[in-house]
Amino acid sequence: MLPSIVKAILFLPWCLALPVPPGTDLKGWDFVKDYFHHFFLTKKELPLLTEGEQIRFLQQFFSLNVTGLLDKQTLDMLRRPRCGVPDVTDYSISPGRPRWNKLTLTYSIINYPFGMKPSTVEDIIYDAVSTWGNVTPLIFQQVKGQDADIKISFWDFEHGDDWPFDGPGGVLAHAFLPSSETPGVVHFDKGEHWSTSYRGINLFLVATHELGHSLGLYHSGNQNSIMYPTYDYQDPRTFQLSVDDIRRIQQLYGRKMFI
Ligand SMILES: [Zn+2]
Ligand SMILES: [Zn+2]
Repeated sequence: MLPSIVKAILFLPWCLALPVPPGTDLKGWDFVKDYFHHFFLTKKELPLLTEGEQIRFLQQFFSLNVTGLLDKQTLDMLRRPRCGVPDVTDYSISPGRPRWNKLTLTYSIINYPFGMKPSTVEDIIYDAVSTWGNVTPLIFQQVKGQDADIKISFWDFEHGDDWPFDGPGGVLAHAFLPSSETPGVVHFDKGEHWSTSYRGINLFLVATHELGHSLGLYHSGNQNSIMYPTYDYQDPRTFQLSVDDIRRIQQLYGRKMFI
């Protein structure tokens, strides 16, 4: 079971006014505490860390200037849409070095988001799995129904796994690692405006990130990595995995062999 600490909904106060005076805006500080509680599940959690220590911890993880102050760069980062998987945890959500012990994986698209043709979703997911398959020996095969290694689906709010979604913005998706109780499960927030472009939330970019989790990757603090926790648009037509992503996925599955 996942620890109960991860079971609450992330609430993003979009109305928060900027700039925020460091350490004096309780709404801003409450926001940081909430964020820290949800995504940095370390045993050093509140109240052991001071406000400044928590902010420094967040700034270090996100590769920001480490000021210890609740400044604009930090709040802007914490407000960005993101993945629902915790960034750092001391709890045993997925102990060890999770990976699949086979190189051919099936995947299934259980349902579809609003406003996007099923064939478009299938093309996007194919491109996303191929991104990982192009740099490893992994082979992906699409199948129908629930009997697949990787099961992709779209849900609103509470959907039965204790990780409820929150509508547009905030948490976009989450996925379970190979060593979890539900390996290969990938859930997207149906409340997002999923798109093939820069509008709304680009499905290819989020799918590539979530499939990284499905294959065994944790979040990266490297801003060039697709496994960075927050969403940042880049053109899918020119997208490439970063050196960091390729190195980490090849540590799990090896390099692609060209015959
Ligand atoms: Zn993630
Ligand atoms: Zn879920």
